[in-house]
Amino acid sequence: MNNPLRKRFGEQILLMFGREPKRPEEGDIAPAAQKIHFFKQGNRDFIAEKKHARAHAVKKNTWRNRRWATLITANLLFVLSYWLDVQLLEGSLTASRFVGFHLIDLNSALQVMLAHKHIIVNLLIGTGTILVGWALLGGRTFCSWVCPYHLLAEWAEKLHLWLAEKKLVSDAPIDRRLRVVFWLIFALLALGTGYTVYEAISPTGILSRALIYGPGLALLWVIALLFFEVFFSRRAWCRYACPIGLTYGVVGIVSPLRVKYTLEGCFHEGDCRKVCLVPHVLDTVIKGRAVDTEVPIGPDCTRCGLCVDTCPSGSLKFDVKGLSKLL
Ligand code: SF4
Ligand code: SF4
Repeated sequence: MNNPLRKRFGEQILLMFGREPKRPEEGDIAPAAQKIHFFKQGNRDFIAEKKHARAHAVKKNTWRNRRWATLITANLLFVLSYWLDVQLLEGSLTASRFVGFHLIDLNSALQVMLAHKHIIVNLLIGTGTILVGWALLGGRTFCSWVCPYHLLAEWAEKLHLWLAEKKLVSDAPIDRRLRVVFWLIFALLALGTGYTVYEAISPTGILSRALIYGPGLALLWVIALLFFEVFFSRRAWCRYACPIGLTYGVVGIVSPLRVKYTLEGCFHEGDCRKVCLVPHVLDTVIKGRAVDTEVPIGPDCTRCGLCVDTCPSGSLKFDVKGLSKLL
């Protein structure tokens, strides 16, 4: 990794903890990237190409459809295993057993250990498989490819955007540092009360249990969250509150699977940022910001693929670190 990318890597971790992205200094941009930034300034051919490509862009939902199918299948497996009484995927998203392997959600395991105030070896074994899996796939992949709340929130977001277009609602952004505050509050609550307080209000756990064992009153809380997101603040829970997202983001810091940005063909109109749950990770697409010709997107990215589907120039693609060089 060269110096500009190394510096950016550190900044992307801070971004995950709530810092706002900054424009890089000229000295922080690799010479090859500086050349491309310079070439694009007022270049008429490039502007014409951009207009043409955007006018003829075909809307794709390839990654979104794959993701929705995976998310629905994963959650249905729990339901079917329970109702058909087959030992395929038992339990719920919080703690489960997949063909005999124990899988325990990292955030839940952490909360349980904080509540019990000691390291529980069985929990450590259960989280091991999950830890390796999500470290390889990028922790926040859990959010967009598995979490049932993510899917509902995506649909609620469509309603929010439709209402916003009609000027009936507007988005009220909240300080992203709130997510760290929530994470600490729930950790301290578990430590102080001896109960996994977060589990009681986690929409992920509530929905997973409701799907498997049937609906309960807790679903009213999930409906209230969705209502808040539709009428007041776009994707508020996943953006500003969910401690699970932060835990998995940290797990995925060195993940080899990521979205990679290529500066050369990018039009900088920002279609990708408009669809992204965490647009701060795409600061690199803003004109003059890319520190190198190829830039990996940071660990807060959920690998949802919406930006890959949306980008009219093919500048954002999924990539496995080191593998593209081998192919
Ligand atoms: S950067 Fe792309 S893949 Fe990552 S969360 Fe945003 S839209 Fe999804
Ligand atoms: S990377 Fe983003 S800004 Fe660049 S062309 Fe693609 S959608 Fe547009």
